[in-house]
Amino acid sequence: MNRPYNFSAGPAAIPAEVLEQAAAEMLDWHGSGMSVMEMSHRGKEFISIYEQAEADLRELLAVPAQFKILFMQGGGLAENAIVPLNLSRAGTVDFVLTGSWSQKSAKEARKYVAEAHIAASGEASQFTSLPAPESWQLSRGASYVHICSNETIHGIEFQELPDLKALGCDAPLVIDFSSHVASRPVDWSRVGLAFGGAQKNLGPAGLTLVIVREDLLGHALPACPSAFDYKTVADNQSMFNTPPTWGIYIAGLTFQWIKRQTEAGLTGVAALELRNKAKADLFYQYVDQSSFYVNKVAANCRSRMNIPFFLRDKSRNDAFLAGARERGLLQLKGHKSVGGMRASIYNAMPIAGVQALVDFMREFEQRNA
Ligand SMILES: *Cc1c(COP(=O)(O)O)cnc(C)c1O
Repeated sequence: MNRPYNFSAGPAAIPAEVLEQAAAEMLDWHGSGMSVMEMSHRGKEFISIYEQAEADLRELLAVPAQFKILFMQGGGLAENAIVPLNLSRAGTVDFVLTGSWSQKSAKEARKYVAEAHIAASGEASQFTSLPAPESWQLSRGASYVHICSNETIHGIEFQELPDLKALGCDAPLVIDFSSHVASRPVDWSRVGLAFGGAQKNLGPAGLTLVIVREDLLGHALPACPSAFDYKTVADNQSMFNTPPTWGIYIAGLTFQWIKRQTEAGLTGVAALELRNKAKADLFYQYVDQSSFYVNKVAANCRSRMNIPFFLRDKSRNDAFLAGARERGLLQLKGHKSVGGMRASIYNAMPIAGVQALVDFMREFEQRNA
């Protein structure tokens, strides 16, 4: 089936093969006589779905054995509270502000920690550049350091995770990788905890992924809800309460889809990384040579997943969006806080979709310049 190209920032496009398989299995999963939505999470059918999903994710992201993979609920915003409840020990936490999402994280953490210290901020550049890690004012004895490794709204991505040890900091690094999880490999030697909602790159809303180093478990504040205590969740294989079974199932199908992807002799996440780089290069190269459109983010931190861009003549925004929609290019409107346009080109977006967008933009520019 020929579907339009969907540039939504999230909930976002899911590979058609995944949706087709889910549709084919909707009424009767593997001869069980049940939809996945109707199964007990403790039955052997669902346990097999869960175990396969966990094993596939561990393989795809090369998650080391000393990290637990937790499937939770609440989304990225709930993790802004759940992380400090589990890791802060009510002490000081360092935040690096690189856009809206890290700002939200710092604000929420203030409810739970002695101090949410701003170690660095890109706000003076209107979040168009990343403060260099060497310039971060990290606190002594912080419980952890929080970054958003891909800022979905401002279109800023860490091309390399900071090496806190090299900066003289022993605190674990927490990354919000909601909007670029599985788009590139993760250097787990630099990470204590990673969290992300599934609805950008892994599946439907309602599933939250947490990957946490074992030694960070077991220090939750007394007020932490049991269902959000990482140790409780880990000790119960994410089944202390009913997990988001449908989300885990669709994410599992997505993991299988990622495993099947190949590019230049690479497979899985490495193949997707190569493809995502080619997609982003194609788009940025076009925008940079155009005097009609602009992206203001510094070249060394431009996101491969979320690309905010602006028509220099704002009065043409509505015509641009209408023309794009007519061409089967959906959900390009920018986030309300920054305006303009945004192309989210997650794993499920093929290079042909980015090419179709660039072709449309070129035509629109020629017609209107
Ligand atoms: C989407 C997003 C979130 C919020 O996720 P919710 O599921 O809405 O809570 C948090 N952080 C980042 C980086 C995001 O892109």
